[in-house]
Amino acid sequence: MATKKTTKKKTKKTGTDSGSGSETFSFQTEVQKLLDLMVHSLYSHKEIFLRELISNASDALDRLRFESLTNSELLSEGTKLEIRLEADGKERLLTIHDNGIGMTRQEVIDNIGTIAKSGTQELAEKMRKSRSDEALGELIGQFGVGFYSSFMVADKVVVVTRRAGEPSATRWESSGQGQFTVEPSERETNGTSVILHLKAVDEEEGLEDFTDQAVLSRIVKRYSDFIAYPIVLKAGDEGKTLNSMKPIWERSASEVNDEEYSEFYKHITHDWRDPLETIVQKAEGLLEYKALLFIPSEAPVDLYFVGSESGLKLYVKRVLIMETCEELLPRYLRFVRGVVDSSDLPLNVSREILQQDRQIRQMRKGLLKKVLDALQSMRETDEAKYLKFWTAFGRALKEGVPEDFENKDKIVSLCLFESSADSEKLTSLSDYVSRMKDEQDAIYYIAGGPREMLESSPHLEAFRDRGLEVLFLTDAVDELLVQALPEFEGKTLRSAGKGTLELGSEEERKQKKRDLDEKTKGFDELLTRMQKILDDRVKEVRLSNRLTTSPACLVGGEHEFSPRLESWLREQRGDAPVLRRILELNADHEVVTRLKARFDVDESSELIPEYAELLYGYAVLAEGSPLRDPAAFARRFADLMARGFGP
Ligand code: ADP
Ligand code: MG
Repeated sequence: MATKKTTKKKTKKTGTDSGSGSETFSFQTEVQKLLDLMVHSLYSHKEIFLRELISNASDALDRLRFESLTNSELLSEGTKLEIRLEADGKERLLTIHDNGIGMTRQEVIDNIGTIAKSGTQELAEKMRKSRSDEALGELIGQFGVGFYSSFMVADKVVVVTRRAGEPSATRWESSGQGQFTVEPSERETNGTSVILHLKAVDEEEGLEDFTDQAVLSRIVKRYSDFIAYPIVLKAGDEGKTLNSMKPIWERSASEVNDEEYSEFYKHITHDWRDPLETIVQKAEGLLEYKALLFIPSEAPVDLYFVGSESGLKLYVKRVLIMETCEELLPRYLRFVRGVVDSSDLPLNVSREILQQDRQIRQMRKGLLKKVLDALQSMRETDEAKYLKFWTAFGRALKEGVPEDFENKDKIVSLCLFESSADSEKLTSLSDYVSRMKDEQDAIYYIAGGPREMLESSPHLEAFRDRGLEVLFLTDAVDELLVQALPEFEGKTLRSAGKGTLELGSEEERKQKKRDLDEKTKGFDELLTRMQKILDDRVKEVRLSNRLTTSPACLVGGEHEFSPRLESWLREQRGDAPVLRRILELNADHEVVTRLKARFDVDESSELIPEYAELLYGYAVLAEGSPLRDPAAFARRFADLMARGFGP
C-alpha cells in the first residue's frame, strides 16, 4: 500500500490559485476509497462523527498541556482549555472548536489526507475485500474512522488550524471527492476549528439535525461524557457544558457500564475493537492512586519488536503528565493499556525522577499484582477468553519468568504450552504434573521450532514408546523460561533433546545402562573414529537409548543452549558461542549395524568418513536445524543415490 506521504501526488491547480498560496492535493488512493465509502455510507449511526472529532480535539488539548510542561510559553496563564460546539441551524453548519495544539501547514497535509494509522489501514484492507454495503456499514461502526467520518454527515468540511507557538494559521478544505486544498489563513488563537457543512436532515439515513441542542447533548452524553475538558455548546450568548467531565476512573465501577469503558478505551488507544478485559483499581491508604487498565483483544504488530512503545498514561490529580509511562509496569506486561492517576506525585515529575521514585515503585508493585490477579481469575473463570488473551500476549508474558524472579511462580502458573498429550489443547504445567505417570520424575519438553517439526524429531521416539507426555516449546523465549525454572511443583524440567536419557524404573534403567555399555564395547573404535572425523562440530559420538526408528540424532549437553536459542542469541547480541554437540547412534538400526560390520572388516574403508558426514547431516536435518554446508551434504547424498543402483 502506498501510504508514504512522499508518494502523494501533488497536483497544483492551474491558473486560478497561483499567487494566493492555495495548493490543491489529491487524496492518497486508500483515503479516497475510504471517503467514497463515507460519502455514500448507508451506515445508520452517522452520529459517531462527533465522537471522533471530539476525541481529536481532546487529544489536541492533552498535547498542548503536555508540551507546555516543558515550554510554558505555549499555554498562557488563565487559558481555559475547552472544546466548543457552535451550531447554526439556518446555514446548516456545525463547528467543533478546540484551543489545543493545532497543526502546522505541513502537519495538516500529513495528518489529514493520508492513512497513517494502523487501524484505518486495516479498515482500508477490509474494505477492499468486502463488497456488501451492510458489512461496510458495520465496519465503520466498529472502526470509527477518525476525521474522515465527518464526510458521512457533511458534503464539505473546512479545517482552520493554528499550531501553538506559530504566528499564522492554515485552512484546509475538501468535499471528499478526490482533492483537498490548503491555503494560509487567520485564527485568533492556537487550536483547530472543524467546520461541517451539513447534509440535509434525513432521519431514515441516520442524518439527524446535528444543529439541534437536544440531539448534540444526547450524542455527547452517549460517547464523550468522560472527556476531561468541558464540551461547551454555544447557544445564543450562553454556553452549556454537555459532559459531566468526571474522569471515568474516578467513578465507581458499579456506576460505569461496559460501553462507557469501551468508549474510553477506544479514545485513549485509538483501537477500534472492544478491550478484552477491563481492570479497575483504587488504592487507598499510604499510597493513593486510581488505575483503569485494559487488555486489548489483539496484539499490535510491533509487540515483539525491541523498541516497541509501551506504557500507561500517567495523571497526577487528573492532570496528564506523561503519555506513556513505562515505569509503571514491567516490560513483559507492555500490552496493558490504560491510565493511572496518582494523588501523591508532584506535578512536575520528570522521567529521571520517575525511575528512582519510591512511590512509583510501590505503584508498580500494586499494578503488577492487580494485573496478574486479573489474569489468574480470567483463566479460572473463562477459558475461551483466556485462550484469546494467551494467543495474543502469551509470548510477552512468558518473558516474565526469566525476568521477574519475585513473581516467577505466579507467571508460570499462567503459562500454557503445546503438548504431545493433546494436539488441540494447550496445557499448563500443573495439568501436566497431574497426568504424570507414577514412575515419572521429570517434566519433559522438547524445544526448538514449530510443533510439526518438533513432533517428527527423533528425540521423541523413546518417549512415544513409553507413552510419556512431552511439552513442545515452540517459542525462542520458552528456552529462557525453562532455564529460569529448574523445577515446578518439585518436578525437574528436563529436555528430551539434552543429556543422557533416563526413563523407566530404576531397575529398568540399570538394565538398559548395562546393555548399552555392553554394546558400546564393540563400538568403541568406530565411535572414536567418527568423532575425529566430525571433531569441529561434534564433541562425542555415542550409542543412544532414545532412538527406536531413526539411525542418529544430535543431543545437547544438559545445560547447553539449543541450536535455535544459540542462533537467536546470536541475532540479538551477535555473540553466542558455537556449541559442539553429541551425535548419538542407534545401534539397532541397519545403517549403523552395517557400517559397523564394514568397519570391522576394513578400518580404512572410504565409506566411514562418508557415512559419518551423512549421519551427521541426517541428524541436523531431522531436528530441523540448518546445515552449515548444504552443498556438500547434497553432493554426498547424490553419490549415495547413484551407488544405490549397485555396480
Ligand atoms: P487519529 O485520531 O486516530 O490519529 P484521525 O483521523 O481522527 O486519526 O486524525 C488524524 C490526525 O489528524 C490526528 O492524529 C491528528 O494528528 C490530526 N488532528 C485531527 N484533529 C485534530 C485537532 N483537532 N487538533 C490537532 N490535530 C488534529
Ligand atoms: Mg481521532
